Amino acid sequence: MYQDTKNFEISDAVRKFLQKLHMHHINGDWTSGASDETIAVFDPATGLKISEVISGTSEDVDRAVKAARQAFESGPWAQMNGYERGRLIQKLSDRLAECAEEFAELEALDAGKPIVYARAADIPTTVRVYSYHAGAASKISGETLTPTMPGDFHAYTLREPVGVVGVITPWNFPLLLTAMKLAPLLACGCTAVIKPSEVTPLSMLRLMDLIQEVGFPPGVVNVVTGYGDPVGSRIAAHEGIDKVSFTGSGATGRKVLAAAGGNLKRVTLELGGKSPMIVFPDADIDKAIPGLASAILFHQGQVCTAGSRLFVPKSLHDRVVEGIADMAKNISLGHSLDSKTNMGPMASQNQLDRVQRYLEQGKNEGADCVIGGTRPEGNGYFLTPTILTNTRPEMSVVKEEIFGPVLCVQSYSDDDRNDAIRLANDTVFGLAASVWTKDLSTAHKAAKKLRAGNVWINTHNIFDPALPFGGFKQSGWGREQGSEVIRSYTEVKTVCAAL
Ligand code: NAD
Repeated sequence: MYQDTKNFEISDAVRKFLQKLHMHHINGDWTSGASDETIAVFDPATGLKISEVISGTSEDVDRAVKAARQAFESGPWAQMNGYERGRLIQKLSDRLAECAEEFAELEALDAGKPIVYARAADIPTTVRVYSYHAGAASKISGETLTPTMPGDFHAYTLREPVGVVGVITPWNFPLLLTAMKLAPLLACGCTAVIKPSEVTPLSMLRLMDLIQEVGFPPGVVNVVTGYGDPVGSRIAAHEGIDKVSFTGSGATGRKVLAAAGGNLKRVTLELGGKSPMIVFPDADIDKAIPGLASAILFHQGQVCTAGSRLFVPKSLHDRVVEGIADMAKNISLGHSLDSKTNMGPMASQNQLDRVQRYLEQGKNEGADCVIGGTRPEGNGYFLTPTILTNTRPEMSVVKEEIFGPVLCVQSYSDDDRNDAIRLANDTVFGLAASVWTKDLSTAHKAAKKLRAGNVWINTHNIFDPALPFGGFKQSGWGREQGSEVIRSYTEVKTVCAAL
């Protein structure tokens, strides 16, 4: 089925995998759905269909929830302790590491991710996420407590798994973002019903082979492919699901939240951002420029933490903009499977259209396009890296998440650092921010004042399983990663005995 107009080699394993009609994975087995309808999966670098998956239904979700509930309440998974669960998660991490090249190819083809980044970032980070939580599984415990009332009591807490978790993920980092939910929820003893994005479902389906191979009991991890409605909406509303963990846009996050209210399920939301980067007057500009450029251009700007708003002092404005523009001009835009490519296509026609609409609006609102915003000739959803200057806080390109390779530059007066921080905080989002300076005090004072869940100093887009990740304000609820995430997949039970 894969039509390779550009003649890039793909491995036999990936070629065979693409040719399958992919099914749901429920209760330890591949299974067809209640409907025969399918969803086409495209290579965004060519616009050609590469595979297809089943378009799931509410009934398919119900079957998956039943299996996940059974696995949670009875059977081998319910009997395993944290150490045993950790061993299984570590085996999965090891198998994934062995199959790294195959997964890198799949992410490149499905999500349009340059294979050099899939190899260097997506796959090894995902391997580490599973490994980190494999270790965490044996360290989840409660504490002993000392009641204040008179009398002789023995009191303690137990940290118990929250139950069946619905996992809903977007298309930009399919394997990694799922791992950030699946690894800790498994460490905590939960079971899962996963809906990957309909745009990029392939790597999660291939991962199910490994999950089965390493010996997770049936029903612990279930995957139902399909559209947001009905599959995602059924998961969000399902009475048999105890928690939903969602990564995606704010608009969908609000729908998930409303639906989850029915049975008051627990909710984690990882939503959008419009992350500021502040260059202070004393920054090491030559070192900053490559960092600023890659903060907005990595994965075509389709990163929730992309450094999409740049604040530079007036005296440095032209030098910084020219430096980033030079880097953007030299970027190698091409097919994601080409090892020379460091910028691939937008992930879908929809996403390309969305970014182009924003660029039109930005120009109409008075922004100047210094570079980019054009479509190269040929197939695929490519867009050249774009820098908009003369942007103002009220413009839609500055206020709203574009989710593309579009940098909006604003300048501030060199002697008013507070103005830079005020402008940076002037957003409904609060996912991430970066500050660029050689002065330690400036850096840490700014880090404290910025209203964002992650602040980076002289770098941007650093993700690690040991570091909690999540948003302030409308960028979400809760934290993933680190030891923080364990709270979100456990309930605390307080036990108090009169002695
Ligand atoms: P999206 O909200 O359109 O879709 C996300 C997922 O929700 C998909 O699987 C989709 O099928 C599903 N969905 C759609 N409608 C639904 C409904 N009514 N009920 C339940 N599920 C439904 O987002 P997207 O376009 O796939 O991804 C881009 C967005 O994700 C951006 O806003 C980006 O910032 C955000 N994101 C956030 C993070 C983070 O960690 N904060 C990470 C990556 C992406």
